[in-house]
Amino acid sequence: MKVAFVASEAVPYAKTGGLADVTGTLPVYLRDLGVETSIIMPMYKMIDVQKIMELKVELNGTVKVEVFKDKNTYLISCPDYFFREGLYGTPKGDYPDNCERFALFAKSVLGLLEKVEFDIVHCHDWQTGLIPLLARRANIKTKTVFTIHNLGYQGRFPKEKFPVLGIEWDYFNVEGVEFYGDINFLKAGILYSDIVTTVSPTYAQEIQTAEHGFGLDGVLKKFKHKVYGILNGIDYSIWNPEIDPLIYENYLDYEGKQKNKFELTNECVFDFNKPLIGMVSRIAGQKGFDILTKAFDDIMTLNYNFILLGFGEEQYCEKLLEFAHIYQGRIAINIKFDETLAHRIYAGSDFFLMPSSYEPCGLGQMISLKYGTVPIVHKTGGLADTVIQFDPAGTTGNGFLFESYSADSMVKALSHAYSVYQNRDVFRRLSENCMKFDFSWGRSAEKYKDIYKELLT
Ligand code: ADP
Repeated sequence: MKVAFVASEAVPYAKTGGLADVTGTLPVYLRDLGVETSIIMPMYKMIDVQKIMELKVELNGTVKVEVFKDKNTYLISCPDYFFREGLYGTPKGDYPDNCERFALFAKSVLGLLEKVEFDIVHCHDWQTGLIPLLARRANIKTKTVFTIHNLGYQGRFPKEKFPVLGIEWDYFNVEGVEFYGDINFLKAGILYSDIVTTVSPTYAQEIQTAEHGFGLDGVLKKFKHKVYGILNGIDYSIWNPEIDPLIYENYLDYEGKQKNKFELTNECVFDFNKPLIGMVSRIAGQKGFDILTKAFDDIMTLNYNFILLGFGEEQYCEKLLEFAHIYQGRIAINIKFDETLAHRIYAGSDFFLMPSSYEPCGLGQMISLKYGTVPIVHKTGGLADTVIQFDPAGTTGNGFLFESYSADSMVKALSHAYSVYQNRDVFRRLSENCMKFDFSWGRSAEKYKDIYKELLT
């Protein structure tokens, strides 16, 4: 069975978030199960790999595209469109030619499929949404799976861009790629793929509701017979405090973890004895920064210290930097992408906060569990599927959840967590409990393989 993963990002080549972790890691686990996997993605900067072919792609005229190969990864190169500072845009907004960029990518993938044979093309997110449509239109026998990692990002473009796609206007109607008068790449992926998956069972249900459907709930409900929810895993060869080369000291118990907290708080010039909340996150409304900035003074009143690593929307970054100025010595705000610091925050914090308004799966809470860092999360999507409310009486559970999405209910959960932290024996047990949860990729990879098998029979 030959499966090509097609995505706009994959580790180790390019990453802005969890998508890259999934598209880079899941193929490795599938290979262990006997599935022959490859990755196809854009080439964002010149790397020293072998060029294997040239393609001519029609997009407002003929565009020359080169295909490079590095081990099992095909890199589609068109420097005018892809050799840029960011993957999708700048902090000020998306690139204005994203429609052209990812239409070109989709068409290049179709060109590649004519030359290299795969049984299944597994597409990820809106950037690849046109591929199932183009594959069906070209009548190719390759089956398509389309995975939604985040329904909030749909690749929506004005109708005027439709001719760029080079497909018949018949596709532009409510039964096709039209969405309230615009083109919608994600909708194309949902409609024309053989199977749709998303990254947790709860999210698979939530996206069929008006609250979380971003206008596509009706379409998803209509096609619910082909919608599956499979929880992401994490790669324990990277995310494991026992062997992690990026943290201050390796550990497998609470004592070892405390040494990491000591080093991290030392670097931040924080009081070691105060509970430390960590966050590693894209700075975006979805990640709960609206309620977080609202609740910030209350969090400080609760006597927590706070360290954040992330980058994204300017309005929140500025607010957070203001707080860092007001609460000097208790808050560290790091606006950047930094792999080492991310690992050190997972290892050195007591709590990991994810107040996401919605969360398709979320990797941060699963990583933090492995590092014994207790998650405090909004009960939604994959967070609801992985975090279990801690019960101090039975010492069961692995974290703290709040049900309604508001600053108030988040502060209540933080206050509860703070009271648990006061009893260090109980907190220690909770932290060590967290380390025992297993969210490795193995089980999820089996489920994907089952889906591929079903498609090919
Ligand atoms: P999403 O994919 O929605 O951004 P996830 O929780 O699924 O959120 O995945 C986020 C991933 O990106 C995690 O591996 C997290 O550690 C990493 N990450 C996010 N922001 C940064 C950053 N500024 N520096 C380093 N790693 C980051």
